[in-house]
Amino acid sequence: SRYLRDVPEGPPDPILGINESYKSCADPRKVNVCVGAYRDARGRPWVLPAVRDAERRLLDDPATNKEYAPIAGDPTFVDLALKFAYGADADVSVIAGMQALSGTGACRVGGHFLSRFVPRPAGRAKVPIYVPDPTWGNHVAIFEECGMDVRRYRYYDAGTNRLNYAGIVEDLTNAPDGSVILLHACAHNPTGCDPTFEQWDAISELIASKGHVAFFDSAYQGFASGDAEADAFALRHFVSRGHNVVLAQSFAKNFGLYGERTGTISVVCSNPEERSAVLSQLKLIARPMYSSPPVHGSNIVRTVLTDKGLTGEYYNNCREMAARIRAMRERLVDVLLEVGSSHDWSHVTEQIGMFAYTGMSSEMCDVLTSEYSIFLTRDGRISLAGLNDDNIEYVARAIHAVTD
Ligand code: PLP
Repeated sequence: SRYLRDVPEGPPDPILGINESYKSCADPRKVNVCVGAYRDARGRPWVLPAVRDAERRLLDDPATNKEYAPIAGDPTFVDLALKFAYGADADVSVIAGMQALSGTGACRVGGHFLSRFVPRPAGRAKVPIYVPDPTWGNHVAIFEECGMDVRRYRYYDAGTNRLNYAGIVEDLTNAPDGSVILLHACAHNPTGCDPTFEQWDAISELIASKGHVAFFDSAYQGFASGDAEADAFALRHFVSRGHNVVLAQSFAKNFGLYGERTGTISVVCSNPEERSAVLSQLKLIARPMYSSPPVHGSNIVRTVLTDKGLTGEYYNNCREMAARIRAMRERLVDVLLEVGSSHDWSHVTEQIGMFAYTGMSSEMCDVLTSEYSIFLTRDGRISLAGLNDDNIEYVARAIHAVTD
């Protein structure tokens, strides 16, 4: 067709592009610390034993089939997922929850909903959403696709390599009343810096006083501390303070269900009538987008969370992943000091979650890739999950060489 000649070549996705370069690199020393997926101590993808066990049960169960899920997904899964996030005693009768295509799909449906129903500030054509600077790269594109006005609030202080709490407070104060504020529920990507309990409390007060809408993106519940209950603190605290939060929940990292696209989108309402109306609107967004969600991942999560034995096994698996990542974080800094680095790397051990936000410049990252075949994003973010006993010394020496 004639029009196809005029289709321009789009840029590759920054992160997925790096993974491609890693795959085609022939250097035997190569290391991929760009991946946002857990790797075991031998560098291999890990299917959680609890997930494997659930899959076996599902396969043996004659009731398992491949029928369509309802538009809002498997209601039992959704209930269990909401309790996993909001707490076992949460009142789910006022939470409008729908299954979603992992965290990305949840952000997309949630953004669409907010773009449609949050009142625009006077004189604005679009609903403003404030995302942290920096944030997961996809947030900006997702919320733009939702028709929102994507703005940033300061989050990280590159001078101290720590949270810029004063910047957060100032920027959320200056945002127009009634803005949407995107918050990483825990283990902020890419910085690994979360507010303290006291800071979360103050942020909650500030957001309430401004009439802002808190939109939590929870992609790492259980990955920060190893304990999914502890990692839900900020979300649960906001709900306890009366916020009508929106939550995008992903089971990609904490259950290792990356490719199964398993998650939920939910909105905490004030009563069952609101819940019903909001849920009806979420379904109206999902139906013309993908009709109904995939079922394998939600079947797995449902099976795990309805069986005491599997739930216990799951919590152990999650703790094991978080502990290995934590050990790699500490080892990386130990080896950097052992090989003679005189820099202060204490921010790396203070950070939490899957990533170390090292503070290396883009130029340093480029040298790591070109001379050492270490693949990472140009913001200096290193996936600790990509490190193991076989490569950590090599990576630490290379980091020392480029930062010395
Ligand atoms: N939100 C954050 C902050 C993330 O880091 C990620 C994945 O890297 C996601 C959401 C979404 O991931 P998925 O769509 O695989 O659940």
